[in-house]
Amino acid sequence: MAKKLFIPGPTDVSPDVFDAMSKPMIGHRGKEFGILLEDCVENLKRLMFTKNNIFVCPSSSTGLMEAAIRNCVKKRCLNVGNGAFSNRWHDITKANGKEADLLELEWGGAPTPDLIDEKLSTGNYDAITLVHNETSTGVTAPIYDIAEIVKDYDVSFLVDTVSSMAGIKVEVDKLGIDVCLFGVQKAMALPAGLAICSVSDKSLEKAKTVDNRGYYFDFLTYLKYWGKKQTPTTGAISIMQGLRYQLDKILNREGLENRFDRHRNMGELCRKWAKKNLDILPEEKYASDTVSCIKNTKEIDCNDLKQKLAEGGYIFANGYGKLADKTFRIAHMGDRTVDELKKYLDAIDEILGF
Ligand SMILES: *Cc1c(COP(=O)(O)O)cnc(C)c1O
Repeated sequence: MAKKLFIPGPTDVSPDVFDAMSKPMIGHRGKEFGILLEDCVENLKRLMFTKNNIFVCPSSSTGLMEAAIRNCVKKRCLNVGNGAFSNRWHDITKANGKEADLLELEWGGAPTPDLIDEKLSTGNYDAITLVHNETSTGVTAPIYDIAEIVKDYDVSFLVDTVSSMAGIKVEVDKLGIDVCLFGVQKAMALPAGLAICSVSDKSLEKAKTVDNRGYYFDFLTYLKYWGKKQTPTTGAISIMQGLRYQLDKILNREGLENRFDRHRNMGELCRKWAKKNLDILPEEKYASDTVSCIKNTKEIDCNDLKQKLAEGGYIFANGYGKLADKTFRIAHMGDRTVDELKKYLDAIDEILGF
């Protein structure tokens, strides 16, 4: 039997989603593909609370992080780094030859609106990057407070919602997010290989004035092809068929608010368990509802725990990067249920004698 994934991506894909994907191939320049793309885009707008253009790209999420930088940074980018993925924004910006500064924050802490305000007020920047849900540390940024600051400046607001979209509410238009991106293999619970972003009209206008947007991820090329209800290159057709099905399930069967509630309940359950037996890394009010980062206060041998959980049919997530020995993570995202999480925590209790 397949092992249950408690890692923060990829997440398990439900059998009915796989069924929806097992359809005959269609041509990517035909009418049927256009309908598939439009169906996906319509429902993605509901999921993301946006009227912006949406692009569906055969890529992992990191590809669209690069796209956001290539299309939207002209002068200098402020990268807010409080963990591995937010620091990745900085690496990408530099790798693409753009001017950038890293606002380096403690891992496990949340980005603070005050510090962001202070940096932006220098007038040095025309773009800012943020990770909404820092998967390496289990921290959800106070994005509504940060958005209040960002909206006072003429900057492109580029936000990674890779491990939160479809698990935690992100209202793109209300927040004024210019590029909001995510991959489908985390809280969307689809197979990896497809990334999605919304792009504001303001950013599309700006992109026209940005040199070296590259070829594969040029937003203006995506916009041009959207006019024909196509994508510039061959789409990830099977995953898109899964996406159409999964979006219908999320929006019309489970319901978005119910889905957010389910994630909140799983987050609360996991935190309660962690505080009883160990501790959590972030401050409680910033702790993520899709992934918990547990402080290893009892010097548990995580590799041994991982091995024993594997024997019980589970895939365990170690800490990320420099937190590998000090923490471990429990993902509770996608189609995972409270009951499944309870069983997983019971399995850990049994192994560790909690
Ligand atoms: C997983 C993850 C990424 C990287 O996603 P890929 O699809 O592997 O490129 C980026 N940001 C965050 C917050 C993530 O959790």
